[in-house]
Amino acid sequence: MPHQDAKKQKPIVLTIAGSDSGGGAGIQADIKAISATGGYACSVITALTAQNTQGVTAVHPTPQAMIQAQLDAVFSDLSVSAVKVGMLGDSETIRTVAAALRRYRPAHLVVDPVMVTANGDMLLAEEAVNCLREELLPLADVITPNLPEAAALLGAALPKRLDEVESLFTGLGQLDCAAVLLKGGFLQQESRSPDWLLSDNQVRCFDTPRVMTGNTHGTGCTLSAALACYLGQGFNMEEAVARAKRYIDQAILAGSCLRIGQGRGPVEH
Ligand code: PLP
Repeated sequence: MPHQDAKKQKPIVLTIAGSDSGGGAGIQADIKAISATGGYACSVITALTAQNTQGVTAVHPTPQAMIQAQLDAVFSDLSVSAVKVGMLGDSETIRTVAAALRRYRPAHLVVDPVMVTANGDMLLAEEAVNCLREELLPLADVITPNLPEAAALLGAALPKRLDEVESLFTGLGQLDCAAVLLKGGFLQQESRSPDWLLSDNQVRCFDTPRVMTGNTHGTGCTLSAALACYLGQGFNMEEAVARAKRYIDQAILAGSCLRIGQGRGPVEH
């Protein structure tokens, strides 16, 4: 009989995402980030990717019945405080995951609308973008698109400069989700690294100095997992975003000193 007397409170944070064999992004990054930010991490693996710092060589989607079985196993036993959703791959998986989230109703939901890796490998079928917007966004407390993902969600042009980013705010504000954390990391020529939180008809900018490094593999995964963990600990959205931003900045700085693999290296937790 397992020991049932819980002595310590630790938020249980579930990541629903793809595995990155190289260890830098996906489930592996999420588990490291959740552990480092004070949570207990559990996982539902939606796909296996054969991947390293140079790119993705193969993707094997998890069969739907196995995704469902993982979701049921976790939610029927563990008191999940917050969920982070990452790579889903296709519409079928989006529907399976959305149905489970509607059924189990976790208190906090962060959706990272993962579409493509920084190395340019596709992680979401193009036809699935509408499905993501319709099925998952309405359930989320916050979504965390980077600029290409935000542009794809809106069918808009990709902003190339800082002064073009505002053109996305109106469209993002009209999406059917509670809040959007728009990540500015793709503006590579900038010396700052701004992210924008759009919620309650307000825009708040979280702006920090940019760390000049190519080791940015897993930054999006790490930020969204840390954000879910801080929400699970009871911080309000602004405070959770501020803390997650601080965490990813530190992780990028620590990763910039490491040489792991020959391509785009990971952040360090
Ligand atoms: N999920 C998986 C499984 C991935 O392999 C990647 C990128 O390689 C991502 C998500 C997104 O990564 P990032 O955090 O760099 O946006």
